[in-house]
Amino acid sequence: MHCAILGVPVQVGSGRMGCEMGPSALRTAGLVSELTELGHTVTDLGSVSPSTIRLASHGNKALKSLPEIVAWTEAITDAAYAASADSVMIFLGGDHSISAGTLTGIARRADEAGRPLFVLWLDAHPDFHTLETTTSGNLHGVPLAYASGQPGFEGYFPELKGSIDPSNVCALGIRSVDQAERQALGKAGVTVHDMRMIDEHGIAPLLRAFLERVSANSGMLHVSLDVDFLDPVIAPAVGTTVPGGATFREAHLVMEMLHDSGLVTSLDLVELNPFLDERGRTATLMVDLTASLFGRRIMDRPTRSY
Ligand code: MG
Ligand code: MG
Repeated sequence: MHCAILGVPVQVGSGRMGCEMGPSALRTAGLVSELTELGHTVTDLGSVSPSTIRLASHGNKALKSLPEIVAWTEAITDAAYAASADSVMIFLGGDHSISAGTLTGIARRADEAGRPLFVLWLDAHPDFHTLETTTSGNLHGVPLAYASGQPGFEGYFPELKGSIDPSNVCALGIRSVDQAERQALGKAGVTVHDMRMIDEHGIAPLLRAFLERVSANSGMLHVSLDVDFLDPVIAPAVGTTVPGGATFREAHLVMEMLHDSGLVTSLDLVELNPFLDERGRTATLMVDLTASLFGRRIMDRPTRSY
């Protein structure tokens, strides 16, 4: 398999400094060598830079860094589309606002291929706010709503170049949802498997049902992995920790099932804030999870000290 990695060092979407260092930390934790050892060829495409920043103002005065995020989204969309022609893409965030661009660029690619794009959103949060409903104003809380065509982004964010049907989105691991998001998710038809569902049913049957849908529709599959999908006990390097997240084995099982499915065409690794990490353990875990997604098996697992 040929993989391309692309750094997307955005931090202004999260409301705190540090995610800009995410791509460096993921590279330092050995992402390229892990993938190479699994038999893949890897091209490191370097980093995206934002487009020209234009002034923009919005009625919601809580919004932070709107012109910057719009400039980033424009550049990321084009870069994601261009780079995804013949590679499995791995986008190194950066905060989760990068997915406004990665999803849209990949959706354009899927539209051209005549295949539906499915999205697996692994996160404590659905990031389904609109520009009107966010009260924190941090734009890492809106990318899924934007990319799946929810109203209120027109005239502010770039015009969508690719389409995602919200009913083709599955959010897994959710445990922090605002009221406005809850209503919007239901109306849009997003499948939400919150932590309680995972507790009651186990993560495997929930994921299997979604993967069967992707396969039955010959879909492409974009996976967006937010560090806070994981329990903060094992992944402390994120600005938005929420207790009660996915365990080490639940997370690896998701990645192993994704590998077995052979369906994944692109991946975001987002919200890693190395400034909050403990001797690189979260960065290392994110790389290990990526290795599971790309074919590492338990029987091959090297022993490491955390
Ligand atoms: Mg997120
Ligand atoms: Mg989150």
